[in-house]
Amino acid sequence: MKDINRYARQLILPEVGGAGQKKLAKARVLLVGAGGLGSPAALYLAAAGVGTLVLADGDTVDLSNLQRQILHFTQDVGKAKVQSARNKLLALNPGVKILAQKTRFTSANAARLMAGCDLALDGSDNFETRYAVNAACLAQGVPLVWGAVLRWEGQIMTVFPGQTACYECLFPEPPDPAVAQSCANAGIVGAVAGAVGCLMATEGLKVLLGKGVPLAGRFWSLDFLKMQVRERAVYRRKDCPHGAVRPAWKKRPLH
Ligand SMILES: [Zn+2]
Repeated sequence: MKDINRYARQLILPEVGGAGQKKLAKARVLLVGAGGLGSPAALYLAAAGVGTLVLADGDTVDLSNLQRQILHFTQDVGKAKVQSARNKLLALNPGVKILAQKTRFTSANAARLMAGCDLALDGSDNFETRYAVNAACLAQGVPLVWGAVLRWEGQIMTVFPGQTACYECLFPEPPDPAVAQSCANAGIVGAVAGAVGCLMATEGLKVLLGKGVPLAGRFWSLDFLKMQVRERAVYRRKDCPHGAVRPAWKKRPLH
């Protein structure tokens, strides 16, 4: 195997080993958003040797992003986020493939972006995209790890399509746009986005390896100001619009 030294510290883990490393090398992961959550998640997945990362983000780097979006440096202001991200990820690990898609994830391009993916990580910053990613994952049977942050708080959950509660089971209705707040108007601590992005990468690696107990059906909300984590069990809703979907993932065992 190539790069034994590069991956030495994870190859010695019983949950990874040579077989797990090969699984990671073969894996293709969609990252929706190359921002505050996507940056740390992409860095750790690339560092771990996940073979192909598909980055979908339509934005360009703004100076106000740099406080938390650690893939982007001052010199990148004005560049496409996916291109800036690709440069850093390849510098970190030239052995992985980075497919930069300068586009916002929508239900119209979902099938193309998600084709062949083993996992999707949603670090997007708006509800429209979240619902679109959730629906696409359920339709295509692709496991999903989604994260969200605001101010000093974070949320994360994992979804196994057809098996465990999805984003829409937890949030059947998007919040009123007048009430919904964004990082732009409510603020965000950069390190909080980093922490939740790292949790997303950790969950993603577990899903790809098929090891451990994932956050499927378990909604975590984290208060970093109080340093408290709350876990809530989430069940599939009978009226979930994705309830009838029987995707390929259903054939695989839930570990
Ligand atoms: Zn659902």
